[in-house]
Amino acid sequence: MKKQTLVVATGNAHKLREIAEIFTDFEVVSQKQMGFDEDVEETGVTFAENALIKARAAAKALNRIALADDSGLCVDELGGAPGVYSARYCGYHGDDQKNRDLLLENMKNIENRRAHFTSAVALVYPDGKELVAEGRTYGNILYQETGEGGFGYDCLFESDDLKKSFGLATAEEKNAVSHRFRALQKLLEKMRKS
Ligand code: IMP
Repeated sequence: MKKQTLVVATGNAHKLREIAEIFTDFEVVSQKQMGFDEDVEETGVTFAENALIKARAAAKALNRIALADDSGLCVDELGGAPGVYSARYCGYHGDDQKNRDLLLENMKNIENRRAHFTSAVALVYPDGKELVAEGRTYGNILYQETGEGGFGYDCLFESDDLKKSFGLATAEEKNAVSHRFRALQKLLEKMRKS
């Protein structure tokens, strides 16, 4: 039987592969592959709101089931910052090095280094039905960059689960404990029950 198409509102090939490995009952394709390549503005103040904004746009434009995620780093002593602004913490979008430098600077006198990554994933059906799930992974912010792997804040995050920096972890090690993996697992459970 032909698998149902699940559109993912991302341009990130790594995320697409991760999602395809979990949602094996579906043919997982990116919104770009389906001809929708709009950069939807993330105006939400929570991860869930932003994920919903992206999934709704793709579901509406393509009339298919659409999945989107939004994620970021939340530091306890910074009141949850950088949070939904993780990708643009330094003031503009997508400069990982500047974002990490600013984080270290803002934490230079802070002893409590507790932090977590959060991922919210949203699934929107063409008939308007919506499901949302969240996953977290906990750890501490390191005092200096450690390891070359990953992206974003990985090399500043010492994972409780792995007992080492995400920057030193292999993709497999990180994916098994990641916030996104946990959120996707929860979403899959919700889908099965709904
Ligand atoms: P997005 O939801 O993929 O757009 O991620 C937002 C930002 O959060 C990224 O640009 C990174 O700075 C940060 N981030 C999200 N997930 C991770 C992760 O797994 N490792 C490191 N940084 C992350």
